[in-house]
Amino acid sequence: MLGLMQDWPLLVHKIIDHAAQNHGDREVVTRSVEGPIHRTNYREIAVRARKVAEALDRLGLKEGDRIATLAWNTWRHLETWYGITGMGGVYHTLNPRLFPDQLIYIANHAEDKVIFFDITFASLVEQIAPKLPKVELYIAMTDAAHLAEMTKKSGANIPNLVAYEEFIAGSSGTYEWKQLDEKAACGLCYTSGTTGNPKGVLYSHRSNMLHAMMCAQTDAQAVCSRDSILPVVPMFHANAWGLAFSAPMVGAKLVMPGPKLDGASVCELLTTERVTMTAAVPTVWLTALQYMDQNNISLPHLNRVMIGGSACPRSMIETFEKKYNVQVIHAWGMTEMSPLGTIGTLKHHVAELPHDKQMDYKVKQGHPVFGVEMKITDDDNNELPRDGKAFGRLKVRGPAIVKGYFRGEGTDAFDDDGWFDTGDVATIDSESYMTITDRSKDVIKSGGEWISSIEIENIAVGHPAVAEAAVIGVRHPKWDERPLLIVVKKPGAAVTREDILEYLKGKIAKWWMPDDVQFVADIPHTATGKIQKTTLREQFHAYRLPTAAE
Ligand code: ADP
Repeated sequence: MLGLMQDWPLLVHKIIDHAAQNHGDREVVTRSVEGPIHRTNYREIAVRARKVAEALDRLGLKEGDRIATLAWNTWRHLETWYGITGMGGVYHTLNPRLFPDQLIYIANHAEDKVIFFDITFASLVEQIAPKLPKVELYIAMTDAAHLAEMTKKSGANIPNLVAYEEFIAGSSGTYEWKQLDEKAACGLCYTSGTTGNPKGVLYSHRSNMLHAMMCAQTDAQAVCSRDSILPVVPMFHANAWGLAFSAPMVGAKLVMPGPKLDGASVCELLTTERVTMTAAVPTVWLTALQYMDQNNISLPHLNRVMIGGSACPRSMIETFEKKYNVQVIHAWGMTEMSPLGTIGTLKHHVAELPHDKQMDYKVKQGHPVFGVEMKITDDDNNELPRDGKAFGRLKVRGPAIVKGYFRGEGTDAFDDDGWFDTGDVATIDSESYMTITDRSKDVIKSGGEWISSIEIENIAVGHPAVAEAAVIGVRHPKWDERPLLIVVKKPGAAVTREDILEYLKGKIAKWWMPDDVQFVADIPHTATGKIQKTTLREQFHAYRLPTAAE
């Protein structure tokens, strides 16, 4: 027997309709690519999203067509996403931090038909356009005057080019959204592909909608209509962690940082727009916190910051909480998980613990949100105990988790029971708090035992002179591999190898102690802000540990 409740397909453009209808005046503020602060609201965005849909329809685009965006977080990007999904298209976020060859590979693999791009990326687009035979139209996300200025300044010669405002100008704004199946594809995002080619994750309307509801919960992003939310995390990085959907869903104000993600620009918006919640990867906060410290910035409106994408060090959580009175929400997830997986909010009994003990939980990656099943296994797929000690391959299942990559790639990540192997190595404790110890390809195997590079890095950045730290395994004749700690000093800081090793003493097991410390000017990062260990390993390929002769 079937239930007698209405069919109301979970289509993501219903989110913008809901926001327009019920929170129409709520502002969307952007630091525009052109420069000035731009203000609009959900009512206007919903109308202009319909204009985008109408114009794409007129162009002859069909359901399922991939339409790329190469853009910062702006109101136009938001309109474009909702417009694309409402006409049945698939928004495909391109990460401008990738190399041109990677972008060409990805856009061709996706068979993108249109590319919406910010004028900051004009020369990049000019460079890749000749190698993108399927792209029929390039839309510069600006008005005609700024497009003319851009063309004059950059000299960029892009074929089939139109300004966004011209593109939508002839549309009425009364377009009727397409009637779609909630399982229809609506978004596409490629993983960074640190090993092998990038792989496409194809979201459905249903998965994005369910994910937005998962995000909005109080023990997750805890977003509400009284919030002013600044997603520093770009829309091209795993859907801005769902905020482009969850914020309008609850009618929160959105503050879009555009191209300026430096400490000064972010802090200015936090203050002027009275931001209550923000989100970004740890590397962004490393520089922002330095800026705040140097300029005596206070954050009177901000009450929480979501940090994920790589492990959030204890020292960062403590600085936000003690110095700025801002709560840190540590989260873990993946592009493949839409992306939210676990959240480090305090469960009831943890909230009752003394502050120090709470901190031991806050540094963990957190407990799963509803809709995420999680387990750890050994290499033979035997489930390991949830005792906070055993660590193994982290596997996940759920309605907003990938079940196969675009065009059938990467099948070895999935098993017959529907579990997806995250490629992370983790522990899960009896309270379901999960701790990532490493990416499986980054674990350091010393004398048959595993050493967690992440844990050592997180402790090392707690040293007052350390700006950033990375640990890699280096070949060792006796132990196979031993840890090497690579450190970027804070500007002007004087610190020695011995100081740092002394600082680590007692904080990690003796046999985890790095065999050496090397100082570098910069640590390389991936396009999503993670430490690029493959490059570091290449960089230190010829390096020999002082202990290697033992
Ligand atoms: P990409 O792989 O494209 O850089 P993702 O954001 O999808 O982008 O990367 C997901 C991976 O990032 C996870 O599998 C995990 O290794 C790492 N990660 C994400 N959040 C955290 C976190 N809070 N702590 C440690 N690692 C994290």
